[in-house]
Amino acid sequence: MISMKPAILAVLLTLSGFGTPLPSRNRAEPVAVDPGMLVEASEQSGIEVPQKPHRPVQRVRSEELSLAELRAKYPRLFYLRGNPGKRQIALTFDDAPDPRFTPQILDILKAQDVKATFFIVGYRAERHPELVRRMIREGHAVGGHSYDHPDFSRLSDSRFRDQVLRTNAILTKLAGYTPNLVRPPYGEIKESQLIWLGQHGFYAINWSSDSLDWRNLKAGQVYANVMKSVGPGVIVLQHAGGGRGERLQGTIQALPQIIRELKARSYRLVTVPELLNLPDPSRNRD
Ligand SMILES: [Zn+2]
Repeated sequence: MISMKPAILAVLLTLSGFGTPLPSRNRAEPVAVDPGMLVEASEQSGIEVPQKPHRPVQRVRSEELSLAELRAKYPRLFYLRGNPGKRQIALTFDDAPDPRFTPQILDILKAQDVKATFFIVGYRAERHPELVRRMIREGHAVGGHSYDHPDFSRLSDSRFRDQVLRTNAILTKLAGYTPNLVRPPYGEIKESQLIWLGQHGFYAINWSSDSLDWRNLKAGQVYANVMKSVGPGVIVLQHAGGGRGERLQGTIQALPQIIRELKARSYRLVTVPELLNLPDPSRNRD
């Protein structure tokens, strides 16, 4: 039976989420939830893959500052929200571009005359550059969301830098300017990485309203999740791209109603650079 042990261990590790290449969606902080990555529709082989199991929350940052501590220490570098005295909200969409969902979200934003912010996964931008060009053309802000969606806090600093710079090089080519926003996958980042971002002119952008839309929620639930946490200066997290087997129909169906309701409550919907009053590199566009 001793020879069974490695197999049993492997099963247990797989069930617990370890030993698989796909990162967990659960994080210690409720605000820091984001989908695991990310398989193109074309890679699905027509097989519907269920949601990946959630890994028990286990922190690897025992010697690291918590995200809350990092935010307190670097308030001009690491943002969750803007000025609570201003009636403005930024809608943000992660994991773009994805041809299954991103065009529909862009259509809604265009019809409602709203500018949003998209956080782009580098390898997806390489595959669907036309969707990124469309975002730029239609006046949305873009930022990097890593090359292939690792948890930054588990990366060496050099691999982290490569993820950021590689993605930003792709975006710079498509946008005609050099974006300065980074949204860490899962909202996770280490202090050394944050300092490096600051030294290189980047800002790290998390969120203060989480739609949890990647859970294949119905539109009513997406709407409720967003609306219960909106307020002046809030940054809303939704998704414009999904992982294997994920559907964002709830996001797409809820978005017109979310926008209408926010406008009815006299919010201005703005991009992240405008919300946070950050330098906007798109103004330096060629
Ligand atoms: Zn993401």
